[in-house]
Amino acid sequence: MKTLKSEKKLCLLCMEEHEVETVEVIDHEVFKGEEVSFTAQYDYCSATEDFLESEEMIKANSLAMKDAYREKLGLLTSNEIHDIRKKYDISQKDFSEVLGWGRATITRYENHQVQDRAHDDVLRKISCDPKWFIEKLHEAKEQDKISEKAYLKSLHEANEQYKKKKNHYLIDSIYASYADYEDPITRGNSDLNLKKVIEMINYLSEKVNSLHKVKLMKMLWFSDILNFKRKGQSISGLVYNALPMGAVPEGYEQIVLLDGVQFDTIQYGENIGYKFKPSPGFEITELTDEEIQTLEHIISEVGHLTTDEIVHKMHEEEAYKHTACNSPIPYSFAKDLTID
Ligand SMILES: [Zn+2]
Repeated sequence: MKTLKSEKKLCLLCMEEHEVETVEVIDHEVFKGEEVSFTAQYDYCSATEDFLESEEMIKANSLAMKDAYREKLGLLTSNEIHDIRKKYDISQKDFSEVLGWGRATITRYENHQVQDRAHDDVLRKISCDPKWFIEKLHEAKEQDKISEKAYLKSLHEANEQYKKKKNHYLIDSIYASYADYEDPITRGNSDLNLKKVIEMINYLSEKVNSLHKVKLMKMLWFSDILNFKRKGQSISGLVYNALPMGAVPEGYEQIVLLDGVQFDTIQYGENIGYKFKPSPGFEITELTDEEIQTLEHIISEVGHLTTDEIVHKMHEEEAYKHTACNSPIPYSFAKDLTID
């Protein structure tokens, strides 16, 4: 028993005025068939050696007991639910509306009621998926379930969360698009490794002056196919499609937006160019020495070419000539590659 404070007041147990201690004790209780232990607070009368709960203590002790039960069963505690709601800056009622639950549901969960497993799963998912939260928020707004003001306030916070998660979503969507390419020859017998892709881009942009997007895409392809020619495996596992300007990795629009990939945008008349640069503190942790040798060889062979020259070189490759437009270029053409 731990004393938190002591105060002289009328003791409702012995009906005398004396120092009444507020104490903390470990209580045990059975809730929904589970024995739980939790820290409870009481007023303690030393004359009668008895405990008394104020209205406030009854509420707090009940919540502590239920949180102990939630922790034991691996459910979110009332504080964790409160934190999810605060993260999206939304009221208890509006959060209930967004989730399509009874309007008092979240208030109950943050106070006295233990959520079921299905609702717990939804709360966890919405906590780590701001994109989904934004969709639900938008629906609630469309159906006039929440005010415009509440919508905008919460949307702002959700967008901040979403930005933080952007990289995660990009990675998921790139890997998802690669699930369609089951044939190992389209990936050069390697599984897609985005960490290696990022290192390749950084390595090339560190060593090659004025590395623009079209040239970068070609240099990635030459590196991967040369490595396949030498070792029977591509470096990155990227799938390259044959486009009019040559090989372009599947998912390249997302790849260039990944954390760790940096470029400056440069205006050329009507067009915007992307000039890649190494990201600060870039380090190699994934690429092997042999893979770096392959990259070095490609840099020495084509690193000095202009965009037009490298596109022309690509157009001369058997791999490109024999692949239908918009189709994946099979790595089996590595044997015909003009670079050894
Ligand atoms: Zn007393």
